[in-house]
Amino acid sequence: MSRHRLPPARRDEIVGLAEEVAETHCPGRFIDPIHILNTKQITFSFNYYGNGFDGMLEHRRGKFHMFCNLDRVQNSTSPRARFTQGHELGHYFIDEHRNALLHGVPPHFSIADQADPERIIEEEADLFASHFLMPPQRFATAFKSHPTGLTGIIATSKLFSVSCLSAAIRVLRHSKEPLALAHWRNDKPPWAEVNMGFTTMGLVHLLRRADRLPPDCATSLAMADDPAVYSNCRSSASLASSWFAGIHQGSALDIVVQEEALRLGRFGVITVIRPFKK
Ligand SMILES: [Zn+2]
Repeated sequence: MSRHRLPPARRDEIVGLAEEVAETHCPGRFIDPIHILNTKQITFSFNYYGNGFDGMLEHRRGKFHMFCNLDRVQNSTSPRARFTQGHELGHYFIDEHRNALLHGVPPHFSIADQADPERIIEEEADLFASHFLMPPQRFATAFKSHPTGLTGIIATSKLFSVSCLSAAIRVLRHSKEPLALAHWRNDKPPWAEVNMGFTTMGLVHLLRRADRLPPDCATSLAMADDPAVYSNCRSSASLASSWFAGIHQGSALDIVVQEEALRLGRFGVITVIRPFKK
């Protein structure tokens, strides 16, 4: 989920394609990946395939088939299932991905200086999925009408039937206001991103040490919430020095920030940081 790995022209191309596919097949309507699979005569199966993958697009003798793994996505219409279907549709609609599948080679093409083309392909399919499920124009309209911070992110996720995290990444990258995001995962190290609004202020790297956070901050409280359910949004006022690397207590950059956190059930905890507004 790192950004700026893809060349901007390639990014724009995939974003444009995703929006075109969404608005051609579901104009002004709810984005329904299954409808598109049917239209394109891509057969699919939902089943329990263990823990190895979320989805897969397979090609055999001119026919495409999508597998969606209910062990990982819960049910066929969950936000995670939709993202998986969007990702597999990316492999179908992005010419290079589809052609690679048609020619029986594993999806594989090179971009200069990229040591790991597999990851690029996955990143492109994820980029497609995000902009297919949240087409840029619809997203921009929704963004204007939603409140800032985690409340707006939750509203966005509901509007587009995507996960809170997918919505948060788009909001963070779209927003001109300073915004930072951390995802505390159960099974992997925490992941964080800081948007341009903050980096231009000099607040660049988010600290990712849960054990160093004050015990009464929103994130610590959300982490203590029942991991089986989605909790209510928690909020606290915190200092930039407790969140950003290299910011000294009491320095000019040690501003008061609003910290909001939410437990995403078994998917961990999300934290949103922005400048505190009275
Ligand atoms: Zn893939």
